[in-house]
Amino acid sequence: LQRELKALRTSEAISRDGVTVQLLANIELPEDMAGVHQALASGIGLYRTEFLFMNRKTPPDEEEQFAAYVKVIRELPGQPVTIRTLDLGADKHADIDLPTTAVNPALGLRAVRLCLQEVGLFKVQLRAILRASAFGTVRLMIPMLSNIDEIARVVELVREVQEELLRTGVDFDTDIPIGGMIEVPAAAVSADLFAAHLDFLSIGTNDLIQYTLAIDRVDDTVNYLYDPLHPSVLRLIAMTIDAADKQGIPVAMCGEMAGDTRYTRLLLGLGLREFSMHPSALLEIKKIVRESAIADLKQQSAQVMAARDPRAVQMLVERMNGDGD
Ligand code: PEP
Ligand code: MG
Repeated sequence: LQRELKALRTSEAISRDGVTVQLLANIELPEDMAGVHQALASGIGLYRTEFLFMNRKTPPDEEEQFAAYVKVIRELPGQPVTIRTLDLGADKHADIDLPTTAVNPALGLRAVRLCLQEVGLFKVQLRAILRASAFGTVRLMIPMLSNIDEIARVVELVREVQEELLRTGVDFDTDIPIGGMIEVPAAAVSADLFAAHLDFLSIGTNDLIQYTLAIDRVDDTVNYLYDPLHPSVLRLIAMTIDAADKQGIPVAMCGEMAGDTRYTRLLLGLGLREFSMHPSALLEIKKIVRESAIADLKQQSAQVMAARDPRAVQMLVERMNGDGD
């Protein structure tokens, strides 16, 4: 199987009925690029920039961040690099002195909320990302959105930084796409409203499942309840994909579910065309894409969505995956 997968490196991720799928990689640090090249991913769907801020007492300055972004961009000429703005707080702990909440970190001042409070820190990152955007195809992605006002405030800060760069004659991509993660149920339920203000969406299933099912993603005592196939989760995913399609913007998935072969066919059937995952999962997912007829999967996914009980969902998904899977 390993040899068969290796042979797929240079094959396209295209279904039997001719549908092209983007298979992108998730990275945490520039050091992860080796795996990305090994899998020949078609770009970066999630660059978790908070890892540059971890295990240290002071945040990286603009130059250090700029270098870390440009390094990745330069290694992928012509391919999209989706840089997520700082997603600190909750399960992503940093030793930097920041006002993250202690009461209930997962529901507190984290990610974009923290950035909009710590505007100084945030603008340094935005400057580094914008400067890096002059060197390739960069997409800027906002984590943990829960209301549209947050988008407006981030866009306002991006415009401010762009004007500063313009004034000082520093190059950047004036058309940099600004997208948002759909990982809070509120955002998924109103994905059509979010889609109207964003250039792309990306579904973060790790948090979306946590918040939808009210189970802490790092608490082992409740992980038996962590179910990507829960009808509520599937409905939120389907709603998000449909909202992006209606708005005519791309939608990706970058949570663990996107790199799990048990869900690939179902997600293809629901209309997902961009999957971002740990590079080690990419060739297996590509194999499934190439073996799939999307038209059939669409019908089977509709049956899954119409199923009335969890066992039926499980059974239908297993059937989609075939006995040998
Ligand atoms: C997610 O929540 O699914 C996601 C991709 O972001 P992270 O795992 O970094 O929170
Ligand atoms: Mg998340």
